[in-house]
Amino acid sequence: MTADNSKLFQKAIETSDLSLLATIPKSDLHNHAPLGSRLQDFEKAIAQKLPLPPLKMESIAEMDSYIFGNLRQHIVSLNGLETSLRLAFRQAKTDGIQTLEMSIDCFFVALFADKEKGLIQLLQQIHKEEAPEIQYNPEIGLSRDADVKDIEPLIFPCIESGYFKSIDLYGNELIKDARHYIPIYKLARDKGLKLKSHAGEFGDAESVRYTVDTLELDEVQHGIAAAQSADVMKWLRNNNIRLNICPSSNVALSRVETMALHPARTLADNGIIITINTDDILLFNQSVSEEFLNLYHAGLFSAADLNIIREKGL
Ligand SMILES: [Zn+2]
Repeated sequence: MTADNSKLFQKAIETSDLSLLATIPKSDLHNHAPLGSRLQDFEKAIAQKLPLPPLKMESIAEMDSYIFGNLRQHIVSLNGLETSLRLAFRQAKTDGIQTLEMSIDCFFVALFADKEKGLIQLLQQIHKEEAPEIQYNPEIGLSRDADVKDIEPLIFPCIESGYFKSIDLYGNELIKDARHYIPIYKLARDKGLKLKSHAGEFGDAESVRYTVDTLELDEVQHGIAAAQSADVMKWLRNNNIRLNICPSSNVALSRVETMALHPARTLADNGIIITINTDDILLFNQSVSEEFLNLYHAGLFSAADLNIIREKGL
C-alpha cells in the first residue's frame, strides 16, 4: 500500500493530477483551524461575498487587518466557530489529509459557558461528524499579541485536560521574548504535549535557535530563516528539530520573493526534516496537494524528493 502510494504520488506530481494527489495520504501539521477552508466555501457558508485577501502582504499586521476587517466577525461566535471548524475538517478530508495537527486558539475557550470542556466537546463532535477517518491531533494555540496574564487562565486548563496533543505559539514573533511563555511550555512538557512555536518567519536564524532553546521545542512552525545560517541549520539537524513549512504563506507574506527562491531546498539539503503545510487556506488558497505541486513546478524538488517529504509528515 505504501509503495503503491509512493508511485501514485510521484505520478500525480509529474502529471499535475490534483484529483489523484487528493487521494494519496498526506499530513497538514501547520494549520490554524478557523482559517482552514477555501474562501469560496466560507463565503457560501456565511452567504456573503468577501474581498479577496491581498496577494502580497508585508507584515502580520497587514494580514491581521484583512482578518479583523473581513473574517473575524464571522468566526468569533459559537455558530461562527462551529461553521469554520466544520469547513476546515471538510477541506482537509477533500485533500486527503490523513494526519492533521490543526491548532485552535485558547481564546475560543471564552465563548463557552463550560469553558475548555465546551470547546473540547465541540472539537470532538465535529471531528467525529465530518472526518472521523482523519488522524486529528488537537493542538492548542496562543498568540504573542495577547497578554500572557490573559492567556494563562485559559490555556492552563486546556493543557491539563489531556485532550490536546501539541501546543503552538504564533502572532508577531518580534514583539515578545519567548521567555514569557516558559511556565506555559513547562506545563505542556510535563503533560506530554508536543511543543511547537512559530519562529524564523519574520525573525532571523538565531531567533529560531533561541526559541527552540528557550521553550525546549520539538518542532518549529516555519523556521525558514534558519537557512541563512549554516551553524543554525547544523544545530537544528543535530537536535532533530523538524520544520513545518508553508511555502505559499511565505511568498504571500513577502518572506521569500518567489516559490523558486524558497529556502525549503537548502534546509532539506542540510539534513533538516521538513514538512509541507497550508498555514491558512482562507488567506493563501493552497491545499497541501497544491503546495507540493508548486514546489515541483518551481523546480525545487523532484517528485521522489517530495514523496520522501510526504512520508516524513505521516
Ligand atoms: Zn502559522
